[in-house]
Amino acid sequence: MEIYLDNAATTALDPEVIEAILPFLTTHYANPSSAHGAGRKVKEAVDNARRKVAGLLGASPEEIYFTAGATEGINLALSGAIQEYELNHVITSRIEHKAVLQTLKRHEKDGDIETSFVKLDERGNVDLYHLENLLRANPRTLIALMHGNNEIGNITDIHAIGVLARRYNAVFFTDTTQTMGKAHFNLQEADIDFLVGSAHKFHGPKGVGFVYINQKHKLKPLIYGGGQERGQRGGTEHVVGIVGLAKALEVSYRNLEATQTKMCKFKQYLVSKLAISGIEGVCYNGESKYIENSVANVLNVSFPCLSTGSIVAKLDQIGIAVSGGSACQGGGTSHVIQAFACETDKENVRFSFSKFNTFEELDVVVDAITRIYESDLAVSGRAGWKEIASWG
Ligand code: PLP
Repeated sequence: MEIYLDNAATTALDPEVIEAILPFLTTHYANPSSAHGAGRKVKEAVDNARRKVAGLLGASPEEIYFTAGATEGINLALSGAIQEYELNHVITSRIEHKAVLQTLKRHEKDGDIETSFVKLDERGNVDLYHLENLLRANPRTLIALMHGNNEIGNITDIHAIGVLARRYNAVFFTDTTQTMGKAHFNLQEADIDFLVGSAHKFHGPKGVGFVYINQKHKLKPLIYGGGQERGQRGGTEHVVGIVGLAKALEVSYRNLEATQTKMCKFKQYLVSKLAISGIEGVCYNGESKYIENSVANVLNVSFPCLSTGSIVAKLDQIGIAVSGGSACQGGGTSHVIQAFACETDKENVRFSFSKFNTFEELDVVVDAITRIYESDLAVSGRAGWKEIASWG
């Protein structure tokens, strides 16, 4: 039995998305830039997709640029803003995605910017007082702080950060890859200059995304070419992807409340099942355990080290897909966990759900983990947690 609980990495295509993209894989294959009827028809589909995405986010279609995913959008927004406005200081955090951290590192290496890392509390939350102090001290600043963290699920108050950005005349980029389609946005009212989305995180195709660039900005392109995307991003459009992205986002927002409720129930269920599993020393990283402070579909759990290998690998052997990092066997703990967690000597497992999961799958997963611990104790000959519990 295959169980997929790695939906923060990527998701399955929604059947409605497959239906929407099929004609563009078969009959509607013309180039949207072509000056004939077939091309115009495809261009119309791209325009409709742009209007749909903009409408769902309270943006205008001119503010949406399709890209090859969030990574490209992040590179475009950060490099574009740094170069366009000659910004020489960036405030970010140590728990951003590598797409942000590596882009900034490159600019720092090139001598373009200095980077300040905002303080995080013991659960990985941004210290807004520290952020304000950094802004006060640095007038020409780009803020790069994510909305939902991909590993620990923490939600950052991007509204509050946007207000600070305006107050100190900073430019604000937020990585919304993990919250796109899972939280409502009204970009007309938000103090956000740039954000990104990646279709495969919300049941759309891989290799397609978008960047929102507030209409007051015009950025230098990363990719030059035939003037596509109003000159902001050259290259023939990934029409299949774009149509699929817009459909996937539409489906996500249509079902947002029901899906979010289901994800919260999965999270609570998994926490309660682990609590009665008898495995001692289980704890939760970041805010992921707290429904109101985290992305609903991400739960990051620290397990005590096994003596016989890694839990993630053992689950993989029986067809259960989760992801994680471990310091147990000398492997690396992720940069996110290292940035704030006190216990880095455990195995961290990220469970991430989607609407296609079931409670029965969670039962199977917890039973499997319990059995893994039981056999580990039998092999290692250590006093088991059940025995220890019975010592009274
Ligand atoms: N930002 C975050 C928070 C992510 O979770 C990811 C993907 O894992 C990315 C950026 C990069 O997305 P993509 O691989 O689609 O470019």
